[in-house]
Amino acid sequence: MVNRIGHYVGGARVSGTSSRTADVFDPNTGTVQAQVDLASTDEVRHAIAVAEAAQPAWAATNPQRRARVLAKFIALVNDEMEDLARMLSAEHGKTVPDAKGDIQRGLEVIEFATGAPHLLKGEYSTAAGTGIDVYSMRQPLGVVAGITPFNFPAMIPLWKAGPALAAGNAFVLKPSERDPSVPLRLAELFTEAGLPDGVFNVVNGDKEAVDALLHDERIRAVGFVGSTPIAEYIYSTATANGKRAQCFGGAKNHMIVMPDADLDKAADDLIGAGFGSAGERCMAISVAVPVGEETADALVAKLKERIGGLSVGHCHDDASDYGPLVTAEAKQRVVDYIGIGEKEGAELVTDGRDLVVEDYEDGWFVGPTLFDKVTADMQIYREEIFGPVLSVVRAADYEEGLRLANEHEYGNGVAIFTRSGATARDFAARVNTGMVGVNVPIPVPIAYHTFGGWKRSGFGDLNQHGPDAFRFYTKTKTVTSTWPAGEASGSSFVIPTMD
Ligand code: NAD
Repeated sequence: MVNRIGHYVGGARVSGTSSRTADVFDPNTGTVQAQVDLASTDEVRHAIAVAEAAQPAWAATNPQRRARVLAKFIALVNDEMEDLARMLSAEHGKTVPDAKGDIQRGLEVIEFATGAPHLLKGEYSTAAGTGIDVYSMRQPLGVVAGITPFNFPAMIPLWKAGPALAAGNAFVLKPSERDPSVPLRLAELFTEAGLPDGVFNVVNGDKEAVDALLHDERIRAVGFVGSTPIAEYIYSTATANGKRAQCFGGAKNHMIVMPDADLDKAADDLIGAGFGSAGERCMAISVAVPVGEETADALVAKLKERIGGLSVGHCHDDASDYGPLVTAEAKQRVVDYIGIGEKEGAELVTDGRDLVVEDYEDGWFVGPTLFDKVTADMQIYREEIFGPVLSVVRAADYEEGLRLANEHEYGNGVAIFTRSGATARDFAARVNTGMVGVNVPIPVPIAYHTFGGWKRSGFGDLNQHGPDAFRFYTKTKTVTSTWPAGEASGSSFVIPTMD
């Protein structure tokens, strides 16, 4: 009998009642390893009601105490790091060291959120008028929701929940139905750390559960991460229903490689950033833009050589550089794109379609695939592939490289590799992208700066983590007060000013 995965509501695991389920696979073997319950609208409404009941007491708990719960949570997760990473990797297919990075990046935002007592401090103006003081405070929104993707099943739920909980909100998480085990275990660890029952809830599900969250007026804010069409749908539906929303979407991240760059470092970093996690990262580099033919020839030769030394295999095998794609559909999608690239006339330097991993012939593996001479009109350039496929687009000069990045519809991350400070500085100033790396291939900002893409990679005004997260999960209240002494001065019919 396969393992059944339910929900987490009111401080305990609960079984689903909808009778709808989805298969959770082992991507190394293509077999079903569990079934996850898909919540009905009523089940989601119940979780929201539980969160709503728990939220006022949590908001009334002083922020220092809330922060201590998060600090305890960090310790508990660290105690279980190895098991959690293996659990994550077994459903996702990323290697265990990479899964640890996924969890660790989430914990770093929880660490940042333990600064809530400082981050929630308001502003105060004394004697703003005669005998008048003005102060503002940040208050939680109430119940908020997170809807998260399969590719970072620990990091992104924690990016959403950490600041939201620290600010005094209650949370309903709808994680990806592809790898639901780690979010549920994290929910248990929150409870073990002292989070009151009902403050953090997990409902597994699909569109029905998401729509129930989007249409329930008790949900005050929605944080989403996933593909662009769904991000756009969630942003427009949530905001039409009067909710605050931040929705982060897909990507096509470019790396511009200047002729003066350290080409060995650029090639090493491209291999890691392009093929790590089988390319299933929103900050993966999927387009390399060498500047000048000489740079391009040298770079492609170095990439080809390094690809020859890569090892693709079971995600629990220490020798694997990366593992399988998450589902059969994900693999098919990538294989189809490689076929499209060939038809479009790109030069297929290495072809990962025929890779077979011994003993795991039915696993969803795709070998590292490199296309050269890709052009801006090709579908494999315009669309997100989300697999181990790296496209080289040759640019004649720096301006053409910059223009390519700027004209692409996605604007999540971008990198430039160069030894020139002046070029790097000009690039950082002029590139139309949310996160920029200078000789850094995956410029995911640290927890106390904010993370967010531009253009069709992000919808909404505030970014994830960093100070923006506390702005997103709180509303500001401003109090103007005076303590009159002496006689009442009578009514005034003129708008008060500071004159
Ligand atoms: P996805 O859009 O398929 O799913 C994301 C979430 O939305 C899941 O919880 C899923 O259950 C839900 N969902 C799916 N279809 C839905 C529908 N029709 N209506 C309502 N909800 C729906 O994304 P994914 O495949 O899980 O993740 C990969 C995508 O996420 C890639 O495009 C990647 O670039 C993107 N991503 C972006 C960032 C970022 O910060 N910009 C980070 C990680 C991943």
